[in-house]
Amino acid sequence: MSYELPEKLKNLPKYDPVTEIYRVRLDANESFLEMPEDIKKEILEAVSKVEFNRYPDPNATELCRKFGELFDVKPELLTAGNGSDELISIIVPNFLGEGDTMLTILPDFSMYTFYTRMVGARAEALNKDENMKITPEQIIAKAAQCNARLLVFSNPCNPTAVIMSREDILKVVGAVDAMVVVDEAYMEFTEGSVLNEIENYENLIVLKTCSKAFGMAAIRLGFAAANARITNILKTLKAPYNVNSMTQAAGCVILSHREYLENCTARIKESVRSLYQEMKTLAEKKKDIQRLYPTATNFLYIKTERSGEIFEALKQEGISIRNMNGYLRISAGSREENQELVQALDRLFQ
Ligand SMILES: *Cc1c(COP(=O)(O)O)cnc(C)c1O
Repeated sequence: MSYELPEKLKNLPKYDPVTEIYRVRLDANESFLEMPEDIKKEILEAVSKVEFNRYPDPNATELCRKFGELFDVKPELLTAGNGSDELISIIVPNFLGEGDTMLTILPDFSMYTFYTRMVGARAEALNKDENMKITPEQIIAKAAQCNARLLVFSNPCNPTAVIMSREDILKVVGAVDAMVVVDEAYMEFTEGSVLNEIENYENLIVLKTCSKAFGMAAIRLGFAAANARITNILKTLKAPYNVNSMTQAAGCVILSHREYLENCTARIKESVRSLYQEMKTLAEKKKDIQRLYPTATNFLYIKTERSGEIFEALKQEGISIRNMNGYLRISAGSREENQELVQALDRLFQ
């Protein structure tokens, strides 16, 4: 017997999240807000009614209805997934054939290109300028030049925190011969969603997640919104019972609390606003901070040649952030967490 692994499975590039638990966790752009006890109770009650011997609702009907209500989208145009991560893992390999080209705009979320190798597709990238911006014209030209079949990017962007205008996005969607996936994981923190445009285009998928502003990273819940034709395809491609009954039950409870969710979003926005102000003050007196980018998200993106060193030193103090090779990405935390971070950076930066 001799077994040889497929080439594409050898030397897989690993996604490298922080796995140790630190005292102050500002590395994953999660919400720092804990779920209130009364909502937790409501969730437990809903979960206790789950029929554990039965498969979940394959269409997550009630969940899509709740999400649709909240975002003013027709529920039949939504596909639920185990986080938007799962939806990305379904879309990327399936909307590409062997030899096809996917275009990304760097820097961006690293998982987009991972799945291209699974189908032998090519990944092309376009680089943003030093302001972390790019024009629609540049994207359109590059997509045409490399004959892109799929274009995926986050807006606002993780990790740069910068947003592209809705008008520019739609210009791109209308001009390219590619399926365009706009990952709006952080759109709750700002304005400029293209969610209400899904029926106006043949080639637009919008991804939403409950992991960031809504503080539900633990239950793994995300949605893809697209026109009926694309939604039908996504629902056929996904595993039939992908979102488990407990997540569906918990998600239905939380998504019913509009006021709570709006309040969470407002508190996170307030946190990131004040962290930005403090970091701006710090950047003015520390030459190590070469650049602090404006943020449309719940995190900051900072250019510093000492990113590796600072990252390690913060870890020693029990504070975790993301080191991105010459840049740091820092999620906004509670008032105390932000304070601790700023004090540590004040000591570490020169
Ligand atoms: C966090 C994040 C996701 C992942 O969301 P899940 O719904 O938790 O899988 C997707 N895209 C971007 C850009 C993110 O930052």
